Amino acid sequence: MNRFEWTSAGDLAAAARAGSGTVADAMLTQSGQPGTNAVILKAGGIDLLDLMKEGLLSPRRLINLRGIPELGRIVEEPGGALRIGSMVTLAQLAGHPLVRARYNALAEAAGQSASPQIRHVATIGGNLLQRPRCWYFRSLHHHCLRKGGEACFAFAGENQYHAVFGHNGCAIVHPSTAATALVAFNATAELVSAEGARRVVALETFFLTPDEDIARENDLKPGEILTAVVLPPSGPGVRSAHLRQGETDSFDWPIADVAAVLDMDTDGICRQASVVLGAAAPVPYRAKAAQSALAGKRISEDSARSAAQAAIAGAAPLSKNAYKLPVFEALVRRTILSAASHA
Ligand SMILES: Cc1cc2nc3c(=O)[nH]c(=O)nc-3n(C[C@H](O)[C@H](O)[C@H](O)COP(=O)(O)OP(=O)(O)OC[C@H]3O[C@@H](n4cnc5c(N)ncnc54)[C@H](O)[C@@H]3O)c2cc1C
Ligand code: SF4
Repeated sequence: MNRFEWTSAGDLAAAARAGSGTVADAMLTQSGQPGTNAVILKAGGIDLLDLMKEGLLSPRRLINLRGIPELGRIVEEPGGALRIGSMVTLAQLAGHPLVRARYNALAEAAGQSASPQIRHVATIGGNLLQRPRCWYFRSLHHHCLRKGGEACFAFAGENQYHAVFGHNGCAIVHPSTAATALVAFNATAELVSAEGARRVVALETFFLTPDEDIARENDLKPGEILTAVVLPPSGPGVRSAHLRQGETDSFDWPIADVAAVLDMDTDGICRQASVVLGAAAPVPYRAKAAQSALAGKRISEDSARSAAQAAIAGAAPLSKNAYKLPVFEALVRRTILSAASHA
């Protein structure tokens, strides 16, 4: 790992003045060799330090965001929305009483991600902005499309952990498990530019498909800081759950995960459903057909099974990952039933 400078920003203005670039830009090269002039924001440092140790990123300076108090808070807003500062750790998120009571799927997704040690350091902002796990992307010896090279190695290669939906040109799966739940809740991302301008975007559109930009997983602009994610107010009939399936019972990323958010009326009929699949596509994948299959129905084994079958219709597995489809089918069914039974 190269030597680098370290600056701790005490407030947002100081972090903005530092003039950071994005990791995606710093990793996008023609030669495969990382540039050494980048200034990069650091949250928990879990993914950032991995990339640096792997020789894929060689920044000149890191700007530590840890000392900015406003980024570390969870605050209920006057209308009932919940504002989660980007430096809130996964452990804080999983244990927060309001998150557990009103946004169970998010508490479950955050509380099951990685290991307890990592969850106490990793932040929600860094988690959403971590780079993909594709092993060709993580290899110094494979200069693939996402890093500015000319080929994707996954389609004809080892693609067992890759996407089964939406893999146009690049078959990564989005690496953030919390994103699956946040998109299911229709969360928004709040960003502040280097000039101090604030913009708010739906998280679902903040994440970019390979069609939109093959080198970036999200629309973070150079100099921008992700300050918060905001969850809309939760109604009394909203119930939710998140389930994940690992290849083994370990701390590794899931091979499939699902979040379901159901808005139920007092007779137990589902008014509206939000069903999102993680580890399925380059962005969290909204299973629209499953959502339609649940609307207006009583949640039961039968309706959950129909929705699960609808969720995987249209999937396009690669040569080594068709095994994911029955996993997703079972997981969607179980997640819907789990959400409906959650008080
Ligand atoms: C063994 C292992 C298992 C794991 N399992 C899972 C899992 O199951 N599910 C899962 O989702 N993740 C998993 N992870 C990944 C881990 O959760 C992420 O690496 C971590 O959440 C990243 O957060 P961080 O705060 O450390 O971010 P950092 O590494 O500090 O930052 C990540 C990226 O975000 C940028 N960034 C951070 N904060 C901001 C901000 N506020 N504004 C703008 N840019 C910012 C940084 O510049 C960098 O590009 C696992 C990791 C390991 C090592
Ligand atoms: S799937 Fe994407 S990240 Fe992986 S090798 Fe192909 S282009 Fe690169």
